[in-house]
Amino acid sequence: MSETGRIIWRRQFERNPEKKHREKLLDRLRSNDARLEKLTMLRCVIAVALYCLFCGLAPASAALFALEEIAPGVYAHQGRMALMTEENKGDIANIGAVVGDDAVAVIDTGGSLVEGREFLAALRQKTDKPIRYVINTHAHPDHIFGNGAFEGDGVVFVGHEKLPRALAQRGAFYMQSFRAAMDGALDGVRIVAPTQTVSSATTLDLGGRKLLLQAWRAAHSDSDLTVLDEKSGVLFAGDLLFLRHVPIVDASLLGFLDVADRLAKIPATQVVPGHGPLVAPWPQALDAERAYLQRLTADLRAAIKKGSTVADAAQTAGQSERERWRLFDDYNARNATAGFAELEWEP
Ligand SMILES: [Zn+2]
Repeated sequence: MSETGRIIWRRQFERNPEKKHREKLLDRLRSNDARLEKLTMLRCVIAVALYCLFCGLAPASAALFALEEIAPGVYAHQGRMALMTEENKGDIANIGAVVGDDAVAVIDTGGSLVEGREFLAALRQKTDKPIRYVINTHAHPDHIFGNGAFEGDGVVFVGHEKLPRALAQRGAFYMQSFRAAMDGALDGVRIVAPTQTVSSATTLDLGGRKLLLQAWRAAHSDSDLTVLDEKSGVLFAGDLLFLRHVPIVDASLLGFLDVADRLAKIPATQVVPGHGPLVAPWPQALDAERAYLQRLTADLRAAIKKGSTVADAAQTAGQSERERWRLFDDYNARNATAGFAELEWEP
């Protein structure tokens, strides 16, 4: 489970008035945490062993920050499917950059200042053009904790009109919560809010290429923003698109479904998801996510109709999708619980 997910879970528990259910869920979370800690340790040992085997170098040497040119002038970095830890420096989300004739726009900055700096250094190997914009696709820590690496004269931070409020409400909480998991890797992280906000859509001109930014209604989060590079047809979808990694609903299940339908109409040819493999064909990349959200919604409506409790619905809704997604057991019940609360008041 990602750190963001664990925090979302914890917040959910704090709000849950059903004590018995809460205890059960907390037990499950604790056992998940223990299991994930073991898995993370195992992964570290294997990673270090492989690194030494193939490179013959000391494990202290940092691996190069992989920044792939996925279309001319369009770069993307794939985050790991893992927890944000001190070892991985919060590098779990996909982030990228677009280079125009005059300037560069960065799209998300990673999960720590260290990752943000590595990203900047890798980007500087590709271009020395000035970075004019840093666009944040939403407020989650794995996408914004690297912002500080890009602060400087002439750099404008851009986000959804609700992003400043989301950062003000949750920023300090995120910082405090991630200290335990990331320890020293969190040093220097500052919450940097956008000074240019987008209420519906806007265009950024990088010289010879334009980016279309679109702000969406509450879906994955309440501050989701997409970025379309019109020249290459590459869409940066942020966490409005999950591939392989089960989608996470942190704001609205119905909103997520609605936005997914609208996203499909964007005239892109390829997409960079917020989590999962880099670059997938568009709009087919949306199919699996929509199928999951539709299944979950239909199952929840049926459960509500027959008078199921939220606890029962959380155990059953969406289960037929289980084999199709990674981290399903970590997120599905949470998604179902949130969706239940949203759907039970439907007329
Ligand atoms: Zn997110």
